[in-house]
Amino acid sequence: MCGPRARCARAFCRARASGPEGTVAKDARLAGDRERTRFIADLSKKVDVHVFALGNPYRVIVDAADVNFQMPQGIGKEQRGLVSAFRYGLFGPGKSRIVLDVSGPFLIDRSFVLEPRDDQPARLVIDLVPTDEKTFLAKLQEEKKLRAENTPQPLPEAPAHPVDAKPIVVLDPGHGGVDPGASSANGVNEKVVVLEFSKRLKEKLLATGRYEVFMTRDDDTFLPLKERVAFAQKKGAGLFLSIHADYFPTKIDDARGATVYTLSEQASDSEARALAAKENFSDAIAGVELPEDSDEVVTNILIDLAQRETKNRSVVFARSIVGELAAKGTLHTKRLRSAGFRVLKAPDVPSVLLELGFLSNPDDEKQLTSEAWRDRMADSVTAAIDGYFTRRIARVPF
Ligand SMILES: [Zn+2]
Repeated sequence: MCGPRARCARAFCRARASGPEGTVAKDARLAGDRERTRFIADLSKKVDVHVFALGNPYRVIVDAADVNFQMPQGIGKEQRGLVSAFRYGLFGPGKSRIVLDVSGPFLIDRSFVLEPRDDQPARLVIDLVPTDEKTFLAKLQEEKKLRAENTPQPLPEAPAHPVDAKPIVVLDPGHGGVDPGASSANGVNEKVVVLEFSKRLKEKLLATGRYEVFMTRDDDTFLPLKERVAFAQKKGAGLFLSIHADYFPTKIDDARGATVYTLSEQASDSEARALAAKENFSDAIAGVELPEDSDEVVTNILIDLAQRETKNRSVVFARSIVGELAAKGTLHTKRLRSAGFRVLKAPDVPSVLLELGFLSNPDDEKQLTSEAWRDRMADSVTAAIDGYFTRRIARVPF
């Protein structure tokens, strides 16, 4: 399209290839061995990156603004040297992230971005070398301190919601961006099916004219669990529904149907405990730092006191969903399950997590990707939300 003498036109083509401002990441690969592992990403132009390490599990995080990923399918699954896998995606609006999983304690020996040269694209290069646990942790603390000094903490805004206004429902499609969630054997990703479902549910709820509805994400962007909770609180939500799809690796074909979960300190059963661990791992997948354990214990006690009423309401709502789905849908179990889901921890917002079905089950997978099923399921959940608020407004004791 660009002739050899058309200089301006060529510049134009280059700009078009990567968008006027964004950078395109076209490919990535690993080189080296356990003594020195190199990660290389090909970029359409030089970009500023922020590279840092995280522990528990060991990860390298690469943050950059506005990178559009056009990587080959299935990339990042191969193990090489210290790196066991890598993934990439949006981490927030205009914020892109690459996460490398590392198999043991390491140091980021070097990281830099090379300008494009001759026929070589711009390249991001990261060199990792092994180290011992003590050195790794010391380095981590040092970096963490530096980061904390450089990040201003935003102040939470108090919700301003008139008492007689429509109830506010916050829908939370799980995962997104750099965190795909569960995947079926055919490569259907949880983050996609839960977003599609949430959008449909939002339409149905708005169509009743009875609710204000917000979504924690409405595109393929990752959001940390804590921010999902904060979003619901900031909006003054009367109800928070986190939407997911499960995967059962060991019992393919066996488990199917929807399951409804609420928050509890003690898991109701081992399946619920395992699921909460899996869902809570979302932050780790996307490279979010988890709070220090000691802080979390204190928070849990405070939350527990403030939360009793919220908990009761959450259970009422969960029962309402189970009731609707038992009548019209497929339920994995009628039992209410509960465990320590981080995303359900708002002390003042009744919160429920709905697993729509199992991506490991071919019938469920078919449903999860079907328009007609999505429509019926959204009708049932709308009816459950109606049921919940009707009881609340009628002041039926919970
Ligand atoms: Zn999930």
